[in-house]
Amino acid sequence: MAKKYVVGVDIGGTNIRTALIGLDGVIVSKAKNSTGKDPLAVLNKHLDTIYAPHAKEVCGIGMAVAGLIDRENGVVMKSPNIPKLNGVNLKAEINKRYKVCVAVENDANAAACGEKFAGAGKDIGNFVMLTLGTGIGGGVIVENRLLPVAAEVGHMSINADGPQCPCGNVGCLELYASATAIIGGAVAEMEKGKSSILKDSYNGNFYKITAEDIYKAALEGDSLARAVLRDGGKSLGVGIASIINIFSPDAVILTGGLIGAWNIYIEAAITEASKRALKELYNNVNIIPSSLGDDAGIVGAANLIFEKCKS
Ligand SMILES: [Zn+2]
Repeated sequence: MAKKYVVGVDIGGTNIRTALIGLDGVIVSKAKNSTGKDPLAVLNKHLDTIYAPHAKEVCGIGMAVAGLIDRENGVVMKSPNIPKLNGVNLKAEINKRYKVCVAVENDANAAACGEKFAGAGKDIGNFVMLTLGTGIGGGVIVENRLLPVAAEVGHMSINADGPQCPCGNVGCLELYASATAIIGGAVAEMEKGKSSILKDSYNGNFYKITAEDIYKAALEGDSLARAVLRDGGKSLGVGIASIINIFSPDAVILTGGLIGAWNIYIEAAITEASKRALKELYNNVNIIPSSLGDDAGIVGAANLIFEKCKS
C-alpha cells in the first residue's frame, strides 16, 4: 500500500500531542493528553489509536521532545521538565512494539522545521524560531535547512551576576523573559504589597495566576501586569538582539502562549532589539508570529521523517 501519512508526536512538560499528517503537512487526526507521571504509557496509547490503524500507510514516526536529544540514536539525553525520559531511547521503545522508522528531535528545533515546511517560514530561507513558554527554546534554519545544533537560546546568559538557573549557568534569558519568569515577577511584586487586580484572582490565591491572566489584567490597564510584561519583553529583546547579531536571519519567528500578549510583551522586545542589534542586520529582519502555533512541533517532527525515512 502506498505511504500517504507520517505521524508526528510532540512530548512536552505539560501535554503529549500526536497527529496523523498527510504528506502535504495537513493534519488528518490528532490526540492530546496530559504528560502525567508515565509519558511512555501515554505515547503508547496514542500510537495504538493514531498510528496502528494506518501502519501500512505511514512512512515513519517523528518525535519532538523538550530536552537535549541524541538525534543519531533517538535518545533523550536530558529533559528538565520530563525527568522520566532522561536517558530513555525513544526510538528503541517504539521499535519494541512497532517496526517503523523513528526520528527524534528537540521540540524547538522541530517547531522550526514545522514553520519551514508548512508555516510562517515557508518562503524564508534563514530564520530563527523561538518558543516562548515555561522556558525558552530555539531552532535555527539556514539556507532552508535545520542547523543540527542544540540552539538552547533560553540558556544564553544576559546577566553575568544574575540569579542561578537550574541549568548551572546564572542570569539565563529564560529566567527573565519566559512565562514562568513573568508570572514569578508578578507574584513577587504582589508579595511585596504592590496593588494589582490580579490579587483578587483565584479567591486571593494569586500564586495560581497564569501568563494569560496577566495579559488580561494588562489589557484592563493594570499597571503591575503591564510592567512585568514589558520587563519580560525588554529582556527578550536583549536576547533577540544577540541572536540577530550571531545568525543575521531574515526573520525571527515567535511562538508560544506569550505571543498572545504581542502588543505589550513582543512590542517591548522589538523596541529593545532595535536599539541593540547591529543596524545593518536589524534592518533586514522581520520579527513575526508563527502560523502553526501549537501544531508546529508535530508538523515539524513529522517533516523530519521525510528526510530520514525516504522509502
Ligand atoms: Zn540556564
